[in-house]
Amino acid sequence: MKSSRRQLLHAGLFGSIGSLLPGSAAEASSPTRKRVRGVVFMVSDGMSHGVLPLAEALSQQTRKRPTRWWELMQSPRAVQGMMDNASADSLVTDSAAASSAWGGGQRVPNGRINVTAKNQHLEPIGATLRAKKCRLGLVTTATITHATPAGFAANAVDRDDEQSIAPQFLDRVEIALGGGSQFFDPALRDDHRNVFGDFAKAGYQILRDRSELLASSSPRLLGTFASGHLPYSVDRRHDAMLAKNIPTLAEMATAALKRFLPGQAPFLLQIEGARIDHAAHANDIAGLLGDQLAFDDAIATVLSTLSGHDDILVVITSDHGNSNPGLNGMGDSYRHSNDHFRRIAAIRSSHERLFADWSAKKGSPKELATLIHERLGFHPDPKETATLLDTIGGKPVAEWNHLLANPSGILGQLAGNHSGIGWTGTVHTADLTPITSIGPQAERFHGLVRNDSVHEKLLEILLG
Ligand SMILES: [Zn+2]
Repeated sequence: MKSSRRQLLHAGLFGSIGSLLPGSAAEASSPTRKRVRGVVFMVSDGMSHGVLPLAEALSQQTRKRPTRWWELMQSPRAVQGMMDNASADSLVTDSAAASSAWGGGQRVPNGRINVTAKNQHLEPIGATLRAKKCRLGLVTTATITHATPAGFAANAVDRDDEQSIAPQFLDRVEIALGGGSQFFDPALRDDHRNVFGDFAKAGYQILRDRSELLASSSPRLLGTFASGHLPYSVDRRHDAMLAKNIPTLAEMATAALKRFLPGQAPFLLQIEGARIDHAAHANDIAGLLGDQLAFDDAIATVLSTLSGHDDILVVITSDHGNSNPGLNGMGDSYRHSNDHFRRIAAIRSSHERLFADWSAKKGSPKELATLIHERLGFHPDPKETATLLDTIGGKPVAEWNHLLANPSGILGQLAGNHSGIGWTGTVHTADLTPITSIGPQAERFHGLVRNDSVHEKLLEILLG
């Protein structure tokens, strides 16, 4: 009913002029559109616009090849747009409100999953699709119950109530792969409910490490490969045990596509590179770019797996900016910027792991400075180390930008003297984010797209 009324409205409003405009509303409601069987919706969480050229430069430096997203931005076959990401109560959204806009069709207040300011519960897209026999898959490097996947399949007044989100995925999400075993495990849940057992009884194969994923055969999967989030790619690369036991985003994406591609059943698959956002909060450029390249590997894997399937649409975007990293002009006439940037490839650890390892061994101030030198490649001077320790100890420090007066912000600024990377803060920003789409009906995501219009687009594309 809704879409035929819209078609009439658009035909009346735009007439023949509308049909000349690419990506216009008139085109969007054309009955001659190519059929879409499946949508792969890929999210680099918290990816500010400036991340793309930095990831491209790092890929060229370390892998001698372009990123897939950079290539897509130059392809005449791909459609480019920008996402307008505000939430119901702020120009700056969090991931819960952003994913609710996509998955529930309305802007909600920050912190909520598909629950409006008036406490109305929006039906998540996963429930709508399931009623029409369209399957949903969720893949992430965060806990699988985290805000971005949850926005497609759950309701929660508080996004942090992941214990209530986990059982909502039962029979609604066919493939769920990420971290967050603690929210399914009866020994770790407050109510001691065996959510793993509930999924197993419903026919899901329960997976706990990479080898189980690679050998899995069931059509329904619940894979949780860590108690919390999956590790950063930079830490995975420097730890053989992590590399052996934890799948990459590309491997999880492949496992999901293997279930959805055979046959003719419609599907929606969300694939999230979640920790780009976490690294931006931590002002951690090696953590961020390592995970952005892992996300790009997932794009490459998805596109190559889909070759020969011309009825699948791929949409690649982000839900909001975060701390807006940028390479500064360093030195005389900016000639030292490249030298600074090149140092990022030698960084051997995320800031998260550096702080965790130092506090686990109850290290001294000197040991913190040594660890920073060993892993991040620069020597903080005693005054800088003292300031960092003050913020770790919760002492106020003199900082012009209050958002940077915390351990992440201080370490980010010290590291920035070495790498040339600056940050606006340690929080989300109101930036527009890029959208690149390829495949049938990609033109629906052309130009400026409000985040709360994505829900209707996805339903029209998948259900007709
Ligand atoms: Zn965030």
